[in-house]
Amino acid sequence: MSEMHSPSRHVCSAASAPTTWYHASAKRPFARTSPLVGELTADVVIIGAGFTGVSAALDLAAAGLNVVVLEANEVGAGASGRNGGLACSGWRHDQKWLEARMGREDARRLWLLAEDAKADLLARMHDFHIDADWTPGQVFAAHTPRLMQELDNDANHMARAYGYELPHRLDKEQVAHALGSSAYQGGWRDPSAGHVHPLKLLYGLMQAALGAKASLHEYSRVIEVGSDGGKHFAKTSTGRVVADHILLCGDGYLDGIEPDVEARVLPIGSFIIATEPLPADSQILPLHDSAMDTRFVVNYWRRTAERRLIFGGGEKYTPSWPTDIESFVRRNLVKIYPELSGIQVTHAWGGALGITPTRLPYLRQIRPGLLSASGYSGQGVVLAPYFGRILAACVLSQHRDYDVVSRMPVPEFPGGRALRWPLLTAAMTWYALRDKLP
Ligand SMILES: Cc1cc2nc3c(=O)[nH]c(=O)nc-3n(C[C@H](O)[C@H](O)[C@H](O)COP(=O)(O)OP(=O)(O)OC[C@H]3O[C@@H](n4cnc5c(N)ncnc54)[C@H](O)[C@@H]3O)c2cc1C
Repeated sequence: MSEMHSPSRHVCSAASAPTTWYHASAKRPFARTSPLVGELTADVVIIGAGFTGVSAALDLAAAGLNVVVLEANEVGAGASGRNGGLACSGWRHDQKWLEARMGREDARRLWLLAEDAKADLLARMHDFHIDADWTPGQVFAAHTPRLMQELDNDANHMARAYGYELPHRLDKEQVAHALGSSAYQGGWRDPSAGHVHPLKLLYGLMQAALGAKASLHEYSRVIEVGSDGGKHFAKTSTGRVVADHILLCGDGYLDGIEPDVEARVLPIGSFIIATEPLPADSQILPLHDSAMDTRFVVNYWRRTAERRLIFGGGEKYTPSWPTDIESFVRRNLVKIYPELSGIQVTHAWGGALGITPTRLPYLRQIRPGLLSASGYSGQGVVLAPYFGRILAACVLSQHRDYDVVSRMPVPEFPGGRALRWPLLTAAMTWYALRDKLP
């Protein structure tokens, strides 16, 4: 079954619940909430109940603040409830790229921050008893000899300059064994990265935030934010929250609220299928690793505890989405696993994720009292919950990496908000074509 989306907003309609495999396999542990009606006051209003917003809500409510979370749809309707679940190490760029642009000291701090984010995620799952099917192990597979060389160079640099020696190299034969596919030239396996059931993780964090007395209103789309007599407000069609701070946590689903963010963070569509359970003797991912490849339009996949294959592949850079998501993704799947051409796909879905021109997240104080974090560019499973914590620390006037994070270069997309779609589509299509080169 395929889920249809509003092409303009990439959000499933309020009338239909998301039909991902995640929604079919995770039990929501807290009650439905009602839309905002009338006027409320709060210390902090958070827009968006994905990893970023819910994580910030948890810290702020635990610190004793009065927190109201406004969610346009239901918790988990955004990317956090529909992603591939890959919990990756580092950033979308290798450390040399960061060193060249930000200097060695900042690049080192960012590496340590990403490592902290990974450890912090595991610690929070432990502390809040969140069983999100965490499974360690991630293979990064090179689809050309040139890219294998790049992975080798990168791994050597990480071992020499950062002492990061955990990943181990896989030659052509070893990567074929690790993936159950001969489509790749080699790769590296990182045992400290892994995968989770993202919706179980999000539900667990939301439940913890509610337990700390955060308030949640679903089906409450914010249509305007503004300032009034020294306070800030967030307005929906049926109500308003007046607060000292507003946190914008809508990522790829934010639309028409704040031009500064939308000029830098653009939603692109990414698409996933879930198969029926693989046969018990299947050689695909025998160690239950997650995997991703070196293509610009990245393929990412993993096995669930019940042996289903969750496979993501294919992106859309225009507001219109494929009408047949299953076929759109399946054609990438069979390039890696031709033997799965006839496998039954039980769920097919898409989601919007925010990307930035430099593929680095955009966390900033837009103006006093208005903060935003988004644009994780495909690495939000680890980074978004952590960036939510950085937002919370800013509100609490605590030091937590805001300085280095806000130095990450995130310019506007060429053409600004109005022209970003056509220019981006042209640029991305060109890069996607390069996947076909040796
Ligand atoms: C198909 C897909 C696969 C992905 N795979 C991976 C992966 O394997 N690994 C990885 O690290 N990352 C992956 N990502 C990216 C990752 O999911 C995101 O970076 C992360 O979930 C972003 O979290 P968030 O809380 O910032 O945003 P979201 O989870 O998108 O949440 C934003 C929420 O804000 C709400 N909202 C927006 N505007 C308003 C408004 N005006 N009023 C009220 N509410 C509003 C939305 O309804 C939504 O619920 C993937 C994304 C997609 C779509």
